[in-house]
Amino acid sequence: MYHVEIFPQFTFTESQDGTLDFGTVVHTDNADGAPKVLLVCEHASNRIPVFLRDMGLTNEALESHIAWDPGALGVAQHMAGLMSAPLVHGGVSRLVYDCNRPPEAVGAMPVKSEQYDIPANARMTPDERQVRVENIYVPFTQAVSGQIAQHSPSLQLMVTVHSFTPVFHGLQRSVELGILHGRDDRFAMAMSEAVPAQPSFVTRLNEPYSAADGVAHTLDAQAYPSGLLNVMIEIRNDLIRTPQQQRAMAEHLVPWIDRTLAGFDEGGFA
Ligand SMILES: [Zn+2]
Repeated sequence: MYHVEIFPQFTFTESQDGTLDFGTVVHTDNADGAPKVLLVCEHASNRIPVFLRDMGLTNEALESHIAWDPGALGVAQHMAGLMSAPLVHGGVSRLVYDCNRPPEAVGAMPVKSEQYDIPANARMTPDERQVRVENIYVPFTQAVSGQIAQHSPSLQLMVTVHSFTPVFHGLQRSVELGILHGRDDRFAMAMSEAVPAQPSFVTRLNEPYSAADGVAHTLDAQAYPSGLLNVMIEIRNDLIRTPQQQRAMAEHLVPWIDRTLAGFDEGGFA
């Protein structure tokens, strides 16, 4: 029996079959043929499972960047179409579980995000944390590793797609595109040496975050052990608000990634 007391004003109980219903926590858009690239978008959704209601947050907070990466999924889906690449994307808000964090990380089920306290995460028991791990993190990582296994003969590269807020803790960020790496910096270095001149985005290596901020988890836990080249792309979310902007950003990124990958095919970066 499992009984959840999230915060004092609400008490939630299990559903009829004895489990909590998290809904669809991960989506996989598969690809035919022999894809070279696997796309991952951990923070694609701001959906909160019904039993968690509003987690004690306002609608404004639940629609803001603290809950998800606005625009990132649209970019990733356009990229997937242009590259004929499979795409694994999260189906639940990172406030419930951040799939780019291991279970032991403080930020996996954050109690605070920027200025917002997250009441539903404030007093979780170890059992409650484990339920979220098993119902969100485990299936997400299995979806990613399943795609790696399925396409391993042709796969060369994992790209994770994220967006970040233009204003963080009241400070305006000038960087528009971030190219980030984890343990394996080869692809990020090669990409940052081949930044397209047009359209001219302010593009920087390891900004606005770096692996030191714990953001390279999927890259390091999934791509690195599989021997895949890997890179994380962070896009300032004011640049990808509309479907047209998301398509344009995908059209900026895909030829750049293709060209960079071709350099590895030719042995130029190995
Ligand atoms: Zn993100």
